[in-house]
Amino acid sequence: MVTRQDEVTQGEFNPWLRVVSLIESAGKLLGLDPDLVQRIVAPERVLEVSIPVRMDNGGVQMFTGWRIQHDTARGPGKGGIRFHQTVNEDEIAALSGDMSIKCAVVNIPYGGAKGGVRVDPTKLSRAELERLTRRYAFSIAPIIGADRDIPAPDINTDTQIMSWIMDTVSMLRGYNTPGVVTGKPLSIGGTLGHAGATSLGVTICTTALLRHLNRPADLESVIIQGYGKVGAPLVKFLTERGIRVVGVADVRGAIHVPEGIDAAKLAEHFAATGTVMGFAGATEVPSEDFFTIPSTIAIPAALGGVIDAHVAETMSANIIIEAANGPTTGEGAEVLNRRGIIAVPDVLANAGGVVASYFEWAQDIQGYMWETDLFMQRLEKTMNDAFEHVWKRHQELQVPLRETAIAVGVERIAEATEVRGLFP
Ligand code: GLU
Repeated sequence: MVTRQDEVTQGEFNPWLRVVSLIESAGKLLGLDPDLVQRIVAPERVLEVSIPVRMDNGGVQMFTGWRIQHDTARGPGKGGIRFHQTVNEDEIAALSGDMSIKCAVVNIPYGGAKGGVRVDPTKLSRAELERLTRRYAFSIAPIIGADRDIPAPDINTDTQIMSWIMDTVSMLRGYNTPGVVTGKPLSIGGTLGHAGATSLGVTICTTALLRHLNRPADLESVIIQGYGKVGAPLVKFLTERGIRVVGVADVRGAIHVPEGIDAAKLAEHFAATGTVMGFAGATEVPSEDFFTIPSTIAIPAALGGVIDAHVAETMSANIIIEAANGPTTGEGAEVLNRRGIIAVPDVLANAGGVVASYFEWAQDIQGYMWETDLFMQRLEKTMNDAFEHVWKRHQELQVPLRETAIAVGVERIAEATEVRGLFP
């Protein structure tokens, strides 16, 4: 992984160094022993694998994948697997660190981990995608498991990919291991509430923040970058709560509808065309101008690093809810703070997904499936409690919500690390 020395020569945004500095700053804020902070910063285990895949044309193509377990002081590693052409070790390390903090912020008994394969899955056939997934699962199988490290979906991975991973590991072990991954289909130990759980958590954080700020929901206007697993349900959930969604972007471009988007019509349009572009009555906006669309709340729900200093300086909204992982760069965050823009950070805002994963895993290892009502009730309560706790600490510590949330997470990881002691 990159070190600070490298950063000086590269001079560009590095997500891993950003996580390191966030954890170190939290350590200083909390007055923690620097040796303890260094133990928390360093990833526990980094596995890099080469993945040979037989392509449909008979040839073999090589891919590189990672699984990184950042911290397991509070429980087994937990975190998604992403398939994307830009995946690299530093990004996966950063995301694994985010997961350690996220699980601690919502107080679920997990550490943090993350995995990824550098591949553009849109260029693979379904059969190639299955072979890639199964070979990657085989390669990381020695370090994953219901009591070790539990993967889940992330960018470009879904219930089908989770099923192939679960099946591959089950075949290897010789018995069924539903608890080895979450985000599975219902038929093999998945849960109804998992799909959309991240978006529900984002919605809960948005409404809780508006309540604390005494801002009526019907006066807000939201823009959402991303119309995938998180962005699409979000348009529906927010509009159901009377919050107007006035802009949506996907990989092809962005649309603007000042009077508010009809969630059902956009979903229909997207199902028919595969893009938000061309939506009836919408003005099309170039992607690079998306965050300047007049709005009060901006929700990045796609890739990381998009809110840099320039975007932060020119954005219209005065609230950001981070549905994506790591959407804001260090410089971007400084500008947001200077401009008084309130940011609910990823480790709190998008934690609904991993909370749902926790409930799925708990049911799998118990062998007892809950009613969906109970699942939804507990999801809402866990997210609300986490938001209220961070808000309370925000008033006590008098630092922005991002620094507060990281401090809440680091505080809990530090407590677990100290009480367990240092082996040997
Ligand atoms: N990929 C999601 C996240 O970044 C979910 C992780 C999980 O459920 O383990 O939070």
